Amino acid sequence: MTEKPTKPDTPERWQEALTRALYDGVRVYQSPYTGEWVATSGSLIGRFYHLEVYPSRRSKPVITCDCPAAEHEDPVCKHRARWYFDHNYLDLDVWAVPEKMMDVIQGVLHER
Ligand SMILES: [Zn+2]
Repeated sequence: MTEKPTKPDTPERWQEALTRALYDGVRVYQSPYTGEWVATSGSLIGRFYHLEVYPSRRSKPVITCDCPAAEHEDPVCKHRARWYFDHNYLDLDVWAVPEKMMDVIQGVLHER
């Protein structure tokens, strides 16, 4: 049995994940009661994913997400991308956004 290669953790993949997160309307929230972070699913209404965040880790404070991509060992997912974007760890490269996604994403950026 060979192990599946881990997907790469690259700036390009984070840009793609962020673009999809914004386009799909993924949002992150923190519970005022427990301090836990959750992200909404971009595709399933009413579904939330749990993010484990360690703010003292400065470079990549979101350690885990329990979405299907993350459970398959992908270090990059839309939920973590949205958290990093909201907390200024990740910027959107607007020039890399596909034309057909631009209107929706502009709307999301406008309401920030
Ligand atoms: Zn995720």
